[in-house]
Amino acid sequence: MAQVLIAGGGVGGLAAAIAIAGRGHRVTVLERRDVFTELGAGIQLGPNAFYALDRLGAGDDVRAGAQFIAELRLMDGTTGERINAMPLTGAYRRRFGNPYAVVHRTDLYQPLLNACRRTEGIELRTGSPVTGYEQDGTRVTATLATGERCTADVLIGADGIRSAVRRQLVGDGDPRVSGHTIYRSVLPMDEVPPELRSNTVTLWAGPKWHVVHYPISGGRFLNLAATRDDGATEALTGRPTAKREVLRAFPGLDPAASRLLDLGRQWKCWVLCDRDPVDRWVDGRVALLGDAAHPMLQYAAQGACMALEDAVYLGGLLDCAPADMPARLVRYNVDRRDRTARVQLLSREMGRQLYHPAGVAAKERNAAVSALSVSELHDKVDWLHGARDLTPG
Ligand SMILES: Cc1cc2nc3c(=O)[nH]c(=O)nc-3n(C[C@H](O)[C@H](O)[C@H](O)COP(=O)(O)OP(=O)(O)OC[C@H]3O[C@@H](n4cnc5c(N)ncnc54)[C@H](O)[C@@H]3O)c2cc1C
Repeated sequence: MAQVLIAGGGVGGLAAAIAIAGRGHRVTVLERRDVFTELGAGIQLGPNAFYALDRLGAGDDVRAGAQFIAELRLMDGTTGERINAMPLTGAYRRRFGNPYAVVHRTDLYQPLLNACRRTEGIELRTGSPVTGYEQDGTRVTATLATGERCTADVLIGADGIRSAVRRQLVGDGDPRVSGHTIYRSVLPMDEVPPELRSNTVTLWAGPKWHVVHYPISGGRFLNLAATRDDGATEALTGRPTAKREVLRAFPGLDPAASRLLDLGRQWKCWVLCDRDPVDRWVDGRVALLGDAAHPMLQYAAQGACMALEDAVYLGGLLDCAPADMPARLVRYNVDRRDRTARVQLLSREMGRQLYHPAGVAAKERNAAVSALSVSELHDKVDWLHGARDLTPG
């Protein structure tokens, strides 16, 4: 049995704790916050996330709070024209074996937290900000801002996009500021005009901006996110924003979608960040996971899904004695690197090519996307949504 430390108790850290403790190891999660909690509103989960959640024993609990979406709809945000829609029932479900869902973040996080609490061998510690690590050939020590030092066989850095473990391991500084600002709001569904209520993820694509909305919490609320490529140069998280600022940021938006923005309340904005893919996330007995390893823009809606996949795959590999773990961490890095890098780059490209083109490029996008049949749309996401084998061969 090994002792494993996990820096960060987000979705990735908790999922990794369950997967690794499931191999009979003792796991301590070191979370810097004073409570285990997940901030934010809605999140989309592809079928690949449900495969991972089932392997962690949390799938049914997440399904219980999830809204199963009927289609992903792409609208031209300036003309109001429906460009195309990918159905997520019928053939999609048969092909990928699981639903496409949206959940309130709490309804993903809480089942993972509950699974940690009922899993033997997991210790959950709050108020424990990790600042770095030291290691020799046999053990690794995490250093905490409190002055404490925790020693174990392995340290997993699941401490998010501004990971302290990554700062030491990769040393690539602050994340890249994307220049995209996202405004987010949640509003009660009974305030939404009936013609704008649908069991869909609807995306309105415009010149250098897009607006997305979908129902959450059993359809009681509408999650609204409006993003603008405005060249912002400084990272921002959750700054309260006046509604008039939001409305001004989306000139030319179709009146129906504009009406939704007008109904939004308590708007907050973020300036999005990501990082370039890197080849190496492992240093001896230390490895990165989730956003610490491969943070991405949210345009493919896969960051948390990738963290869940990482966790299950890593858990499968750590079915070994402590002495063999450094080699297994290298294999985890090698096996997960290409897929996650592909999603990081795809997420940027989706912004550029699908959501934000203007003028002739937008017309070309409309023509190309509207020509795709349902099975061609499903083919395009097959590698991503359909990946189900998380068992190391
Ligand atoms: C606007 C937006 C929309 C998104 N939509 C989707 C979506 O629809 N679908 C999807 O799959 N993904 C989505 N994502 C991405 C998803 O939120 C992330 O990929 C996911 O949360 C990553 O999980 P994580 O556990 O790796 O990191 P985080 O969720 O960032 O968790 C890191 C944890 O580590 C803790 N921590 C940080 N530093 C330290 C430290 N030094 N010591 C100890 N603890 C520390 C933090 O407090 C936190 O609890 C979206 C992201 C954004 C910004």
